Amino acid sequence: MKSTTGRQEAIAAVINYTPFVDAIDLEGETALSLYGTNVFNDKVMRELLPKSVYKSLQRTIERGDKLDFAIADAVASAMKTWALGKGVTHFTHVFYPLTSLTAEKHDSFFEPDGKGGTIAQFAGSALIQGEPDASSFPSGGIRSTFEARGYTAWDVTSPAYIYENPNGNTLCIPTAFLSWTGEALDHKTPLLRSMQALNTQAQRILKLFGHSDPGMVTATAGPEQEYFLIDRNFYFARPDLLSAGRTLFGAKPPKGQEFEDHYFGAIPERVLAFMMESEHEMYKQGIPIKTRHNEVAPGQFEIAPIYESANLSHDHQHMIMLTLQRMAAKYGMACLLHEKPFAGINGSGKHVNWSLGCKLGNLLDPGDTPHDNAQFLVFCAATIRAVHKYSTLLRSTVASTGNDHRLGANEAPPAILSIFLGEQLEDVFTQLKAGPANRSKLSGTLTVGVDTLPTLPRHAGDRNRTSPFAFTGNRFEFRAVGSSQSISWPLVVMNCVVAESLDFIATEMEREMAGDSAKLNGAVQKVLQGIAVDHSAVIFGGNGYSEEWHQEAERRGLPNLRNTVEALPALKDPANIAVLGKYQVLSEREVLSRYDIWLERYCRDINTEGMLALDIARTKILPAALTYQAQLTSLALDLKSLGKTPSTTLLDQILGMTGALEAGIASLEHELAHEDADDLLTHARHFRDKVIPAMSQIRSAADALEGVLCDEVWPLPTYQEMLFIK
Ligand code: ADP
Ligand code: MG
Repeated sequence: MKSTTGRQEAIAAVINYTPFVDAIDLEGETALSLYGTNVFNDKVMRELLPKSVYKSLQRTIERGDKLDFAIADAVASAMKTWALGKGVTHFTHVFYPLTSLTAEKHDSFFEPDGKGGTIAQFAGSALIQGEPDASSFPSGGIRSTFEARGYTAWDVTSPAYIYENPNGNTLCIPTAFLSWTGEALDHKTPLLRSMQALNTQAQRILKLFGHSDPGMVTATAGPEQEYFLIDRNFYFARPDLLSAGRTLFGAKPPKGQEFEDHYFGAIPERVLAFMMESEHEMYKQGIPIKTRHNEVAPGQFEIAPIYESANLSHDHQHMIMLTLQRMAAKYGMACLLHEKPFAGINGSGKHVNWSLGCKLGNLLDPGDTPHDNAQFLVFCAATIRAVHKYSTLLRSTVASTGNDHRLGANEAPPAILSIFLGEQLEDVFTQLKAGPANRSKLSGTLTVGVDTLPTLPRHAGDRNRTSPFAFTGNRFEFRAVGSSQSISWPLVVMNCVVAESLDFIATEMEREMAGDSAKLNGAVQKVLQGIAVDHSAVIFGGNGYSEEWHQEAERRGLPNLRNTVEALPALKDPANIAVLGKYQVLSEREVLSRYDIWLERYCRDINTEGMLALDIARTKILPAALTYQAQLTSLALDLKSLGKTPSTTLLDQILGMTGALEAGIASLEHELAHEDADDLLTHARHFRDKVIPAMSQIRSAADALEGVLCDEVWPLPTYQEMLFIK
């Protein structure tokens, strides 16, 4: 009995694996001295650009001033000189289409010089703008194929960098991607727009607090990326992992994660070597990687950089995901970014830490003095109000096929958006509701005026892992974000809805104060009390996984959008369209196009999974079951011919399970064959309500068979093998 499936070969390959990669050659440098060496950063620009050009560029980068196109030629020329010196032959505008992957089209620097040779060219116009054909990227009906033009536009606020390959290097220029009518087709454009809106509104608040020159207010982000690593041989022996990013079959292993022995455990040697080389590459590209550790599930890990401006963090996040995947292959592994690669084992998320910073420091840091505290409370209250008021919009930003396996599934945050503040801060907001309170849970009395407010502690409470949105001392942590998704969209919505709240607060306070700075105390008090009264329902410090919370949340009127099909229609809610439009983040047409793109994506994802499940069940699992049945049958016949009475218990059991598998195959086939509904939402509901249950039906029969079939006929690498053979 020999398996023809490659599973045994995969196991053998893993066992016989010998590292083929040499230790990183630092060429006499330290990792530290290599940091940012592949980035066209401030230091390089200061060195290579004419002073006036450098200054003009800095004003755009640091103050958000309009870009002066006249400087483009000078910048392009400096970039070219710098890049050629580093072995670069090509440049590319990198952009971030709504596939949530990065896109790039490479152009050579070299052009014929007319004399039989070549000359390196890079004009300002090529730096500023590119023109990739947009027709093969999702646009949600924004453009039809006959209007295929799309433009990439240089984002000066995210520095160009070099991507190295043993065979040559490429200059990468981060860009926004727009249709020829100027509509956003990407993740970067709305992010930049939302950051601008946030800055405008935050400035009004800071002015009321008496700051004359706080500098530009920037949204900051620090994403914690979780991922799985498995040996590449297993990966290629599992068509479901290869095409859907997750396993569609697999019985629960005898040992899963219940021993809790993986979290923060010693990192296996091959994995550590992989992490170190990945980090080394990322350091060169100026990505400030900070932490690495084992996560909760076997085979699961986490990487997190230090926070940066949300825009830069977004670009770097994409580079992190790409680097992890490329580097895993080099070390003979596959990096799984899917939210739920293995049923019954923890899934992966991407906690996005978010705050606001300017020259004054972090605006969500309670600070050391009462004056800072009052300002902090205003920004904190603005966030609370925004999350409460626009909770369906925020919820929709993390809706995806993969994330449906996590949210609300007892390991990741629930699908109900609530905010964890920590005991003491929660108490402050409770007191605020009643007006100038003076209970003393905090040391000293609390009167929320500028002068008498006591210092708030930076760690205003314990951690709460069950909350989708938690205050963690000097920032909010949005924990519902999925591991494979772009962090842009959640950040866009955060920035936009908080801008709306700041706008509301600034307007109230301006009216209250009427230009008299002595009235600051009263104005702050009043606006905070109003928000505490209207929006405290979203604050919750208890166990977000519990059944009681689901009931309590319903009483509080908090929406619970359980899956993607329930969550995405929030994008069509007039209030949500209005807020994105009011701050010029996305027009109604742009929002609706995204609704279409993401709902269509949901249908495609499930359709692919359904087809894969059918294919694997029919061509791998059913034949294995039949093979073993044949073996048992001939054994029974042989025994009978010897005059024995064979036991058919096992055969009967397998016949029953095989029957269930065949029934599952028939019903999935039927559900997948249904006619396309005209309405996308109806179509999506069909996938959710009919296709997914049919897939589960097949899976339970297949997983049961895995438990009883002879190991040697089983065609797929098992959970035990994939998670534990390193
Ligand atoms: P933990 O696992 O304890 O939540 P990590 O150290 O893994 O913490 O990640 C915390 C993330 O929060 C890091 O990326 C960190 O840089 C980021 N962070 C810290 N301060 C801010 C801030 N002001 N704005 C945004 N992100 C921040
Ligand atoms: Mg965290």
